[in-house]
Amino acid sequence: MELLKQKIRTAGVVLSDQVLKVDTFLNHQIDPLLMHQIGQEFARRFRDAGVTRILTLESSGIAPAVMAGLELGVPVVFARKHRSLILKDDLLTAQVYSFTKQVESTIAVAARYLSPSDRVLVIDDFLANGQAAKGLVSIIQQAGASVAGLGIVIEKSFQPGRAELEGMGLRIESLARIQSLEGGQVTFID
Ligand code: 5GP
Repeated sequence: MELLKQKIRTAGVVLSDQVLKVDTFLNHQIDPLLMHQIGQEFARRFRDAGVTRILTLESSGIAPAVMAGLELGVPVVFARKHRSLILKDDLLTAQVYSFTKQVESTIAVAARYLSPSDRVLVIDDFLANGQAAKGLVSIIQQAGASVAGLGIVIEKSFQPGRAELEGMGLRIESLARIQSLEGGQVTFID
């Protein structure tokens, strides 16, 4: 997606060979027009996949997921990373090791928001080692639902997430694929 790549080139900050900071439009401040176009692009790619629900992870997955949900006309559920006093339902949970925070945490979704008849599209802001995506896929499987695919805003293709998820037979659509962050430069795959 050309507009996204342009935004990454102009507003992304390479923190190291492994980490890209995009706080000005995705992870802290949000660019609604860009998110709208991201939602349209996800919808275009998954229009024929029979999606009935979108699952993402709080907080940075929510904006692109909601925009995709709006375009596809399906509800959006986000997994919580922190236990909430009002989350008293039966929970589906998974353990996820956070790439950026370097701690393991439990993510949780109330069981009543996913049903066996659902075909679920997973959306997230970044794909690195695939831990977050695998946790979300595990939650979908626990619900007895099927996975329509994974929609990723920014994939760091030099990390192993894509290969692992493809190895599980999952379809991955990434809107920007980064080949390298070496030397403070962002290089895209295509
Ligand atoms: P994974 O679970 O695939 O290893 O990492 C994905 C998660 O880690 C995403 O949900 C995202 O929040 C965070 N993440 C991974 N790499 C980066 C990065 O380079 N920059 C930012 N801002 N977040 C990242």
